[in-house]
Amino acid sequence: MIEVRQKSRLLQIEQRVARFVRDKIEPRLYRAAVPLTVRHREIGGEPVPFAVGTAGELRPLPVGSEWGRAWDTSWLRVHCTIPADWNRQGSLRTGTRLEAVIDLGFTHAQPGFQAEGLAYTLAGEPFKGLSPWNHYVPLDGDAGDAVEFWVEAAANPNVAGSDVVDFTPTPLGLWETAGETLRYRLNRADLALLDLTVYELLQDIAVLRGVAAQLPVTSPRRWQIAGALERMITAIEPVRVAETAAAGRAELRGELMKKATASAHTIHATGHAHIDSAWLWPVRETIRKCARTFSNVLALMDDHDDFVFACSSAQQFAWMKEHYPTLFERIRQRVAEGRFVPVGGMWVEADTNIPSGESLVRQFTRGQRFFAEEFGIECEEVWLPDSFGYTGALPQIARGAGLKWFFTQKLSWNRVNRMPHHTFRWEGHDGSILFSHMPPIETYNAMLSAEELVYAENNFADHLTSSMSLAPFGWGDGGGGPTREMLAAADRQADLEGVPRVTVSSPARFFAAAEAENPEPAVWKGEMYLELHRGTYTSQAATKRGNRQSESLLREAELWATTATVRRGFPYPAETLDEAWRRVLLLQFHDILPGSSIAWVHREAEQTHASVAESLNHVIETSLAALAGPGDQLLTVNSSPFSRAGVAPLSCAAASLPARDAAPVRIVEDGTSWTLVNGLTRVTVDERGLLVVLDDLTTKRSLLTGRRPGNLLQLHPDLPTEWDAWDLDEHYRQQVVDLDDRAEITATGDGDRGVVVARRRFGNSTVEQHIVLERDRADVTITTEVDWRERQKVLKLAFPFRIDALESTAETQFGYVTRPTTTNTSWEEAKFEICAHRWLHVGEKGYGVGVANATIYGHDVVRDRDVDGPMTIVRETLLRSPLFPDPETDQGGHRFTTVLAPGADVSATVALGFDLAFPLRSITGAEVIEPLVRATGEGVVVDTVKCSDDGSGDVVVRLYESAGRRADVEVEAFFPYESVAVTDLLEKPVAVSLPEGRSTSLRLRPFELVTLRFRR
Ligand SMILES: [Zn+2]
Repeated sequence: MIEVRQKSRLLQIEQRVARFVRDKIEPRLYRAAVPLTVRHREIGGEPVPFAVGTAGELRPLPVGSEWGRAWDTSWLRVHCTIPADWNRQGSLRTGTRLEAVIDLGFTHAQPGFQAEGLAYTLAGEPFKGLSPWNHYVPLDGDAGDAVEFWVEAAANPNVAGSDVVDFTPTPLGLWETAGETLRYRLNRADLALLDLTVYELLQDIAVLRGVAAQLPVTSPRRWQIAGALERMITAIEPVRVAETAAAGRAELRGELMKKATASAHTIHATGHAHIDSAWLWPVRETIRKCARTFSNVLALMDDHDDFVFACSSAQQFAWMKEHYPTLFERIRQRVAEGRFVPVGGMWVEADTNIPSGESLVRQFTRGQRFFAEEFGIECEEVWLPDSFGYTGALPQIARGAGLKWFFTQKLSWNRVNRMPHHTFRWEGHDGSILFSHMPPIETYNAMLSAEELVYAENNFADHLTSSMSLAPFGWGDGGGGPTREMLAAADRQADLEGVPRVTVSSPARFFAAAEAENPEPAVWKGEMYLELHRGTYTSQAATKRGNRQSESLLREAELWATTATVRRGFPYPAETLDEAWRRVLLLQFHDILPGSSIAWVHREAEQTHASVAESLNHVIETSLAALAGPGDQLLTVNSSPFSRAGVAPLSCAAASLPARDAAPVRIVEDGTSWTLVNGLTRVTVDERGLLVVLDDLTTKRSLLTGRRPGNLLQLHPDLPTEWDAWDLDEHYRQQVVDLDDRAEITATGDGDRGVVVARRRFGNSTVEQHIVLERDRADVTITTEVDWRERQKVLKLAFPFRIDALESTAETQFGYVTRPTTTNTSWEEAKFEICAHRWLHVGEKGYGVGVANATIYGHDVVRDRDVDGPMTIVRETLLRSPLFPDPETDQGGHRFTTVLAPGADVSATVALGFDLAFPLRSITGAEVIEPLVRATGEGVVVDTVKCSDDGSGDVVVRLYESAGRRADVEVEAFFPYESVAVTDLLEKPVAVSLPEGRSTSLRLRPFELVTLRFRR
């Protein structure tokens, strides 16, 4: 047992070292410094190009003065003459580096959440970013030379609040409401000589102190480091630090030479900067954040030959190409050297819960196409460190786009259950596999401190089979990415006793090595549900509505434009469609579509979705007009892959309406209730506007008990402990207000259609619901129009079905996901809010009900009991109203559509989802439009029909198995073509032999996705 006296001796040395470093060494980092002269010009509002920002009159900005209204930009002209005694050959200059040191007023808040700068040469070439832990601008010149450059300083306010994100509502998230206050003070602007020996000494000390701090006081290593540090102090003369720093370093060398233990874990450290494409700043600022960070990265590469930087998101490269072409060319060079490494293959780091299957396909194909065209490379690793859970459809989509590995760290944020492995195989819902890794360091912004490295080693769940893990390091979000200090730490900890080995590496090198070491690790099957951020299925309803509508319009536009191209030689609007896709894909970024960005981002998203809709509707209308020709025949367009109104899938013809006597709708009123009945379904609405009867007359099943009415709006307080826009915390359920007071009811009908309208007020809000039954249709449609004026509340629409469902089935990309409704385990219990696409289904053996929606994603499904046994309550999550980061989230008007399909099985519910997503269109014309393709096979859905990405005019048809079972399908094409091939998602043929003949026969496994390319 170590004596208390001895322990205190150790701690005294360590304290003494800390004080000596702070007071004596750190102040000597710069050997000499002279003030720079700074003049500036403020530009309000949107950023301007260099030529505009630097033209015009400048005002002095002496150190100590304030600058920067929120979101505005200051252009700083910085100049100085290098002092006479700083000549290159002089002793003052030996062993130094000439730098400008500029502190724009940086705070202790997270880098990326505050002011940032970008240094430009006088010619307008960006060459170095400035951020809180990265204040230097490398310069060159001799004594007497004038040093002169520009800094574009962005006064980005800290929306996050104080030094940590504190979720306080703030008006800072919109330029208009952000206020006039100047937010920053120029703290420092010097021309200085960095003392390289003192710098290296500080890096030595930092690493050794970091290692020591991870060791117990009983460790000999910790004592030996303390001894060396004490000798270092002895060797350094406090008034002659520059002259004696080398002697100090010599005392530390021995400790830095001690090798890691033979069995030490290896960490592949990859430079990275997780730059959210929008979040607590607008998209326009992300473009500048990328330029600043990438400038830093390129500057660092000039000094460090082995530095590798992994960078995701084709969109961010595309921004550089458009806005910073010379920077982009420098990036291109480093990409060719394999040092600036594009990863992920996606357009942006998208959310994967909400985007449709085709959207995720395009995230990859558009990203991979960009990387192939610009750099001649294809990414092999999916890179989604931060997205909020991962759909079981992702492995198949990623494999189809040429990727084979998967990386995330977000699941370490799970609040309840811990994922069992860090290195594992992820098997998607169709059986596709991605070799996957979650870094045990549990961050994508590592600094490579000994603390982080040791944590990673201790935390790693797979020592049994694997000896390595990945660690992305660097400040994200505009914080500048990796720093020279991080590289110094990597270098010193490459093989050092007390920490795992660190090798600066690329993700691909890591994955190849990890897979070679352990090619068949444990398997995780299906969805990787994030046990956090469940509110992101609902927050910012308009952004989600815009996304769903854009996805439908994109599919329709491609379908009809392709049909018009093939049939009428209509010019395929490839550029219009590509632009629409790129805009929609950007808005699927993991802080936009989930609804977790500032107001600015979401207001802009709404405008973008509206503009995309306009452009796509134009494509659809002109394509259909070209196809149908001039004429006055009334035609019905069916874009769904299922027949409707007598119109075949993907075609246009005269609709066949139900016969006059086919199940007309009757309305029965008795003063306290209103019943709609049509021979297939009976639905009764009471005075409260609630459904007390929902009878399936075909099977004689009553879906509601009357004691527990359906169509019940429920209001809960919604006060998450943190992450307001992101989180719906389980405790929200502890309080509820049922909106079940008397409503204002009216009913109308004409045999074709019966409608009961219920109007009510609650809080400061109003709601109007239309409950509709139509002739010859079994399903009931409920539209809910809400003027939403509540704060920090969540609005649910509940249907307690007399069904004993053990699981819910929710549409996901190219198929469905089943999740237990039971709460037998902590894993089941944690899924108290779930994401569904166009529909959700609950059933017991032989009977179920489909619940389809037009624009929402959040649902919950719970089991309950009534006097006659178990029941299943399906609730749609319509609206939330968190106050952070957008204090006005979702205030105003919304319209939701819910369709209840009594007796529907999963396949019928799939069709219902398409019904809602693709309403029939009416046009006039001369000719019916025959479909281009027909797929015959149970459960097989033709999702996408488009012209190929390469502009050859080939027709690409994508279909999938939707029912979760094996299927045989015949695909017929009704246009001349030379040959047909099965391709990957990049539209390149894969080796599958197809039988000769007019139709193509395929056998699909459950949820299999197939792309066919018809060569014309
Ligand atoms: Zn992120």
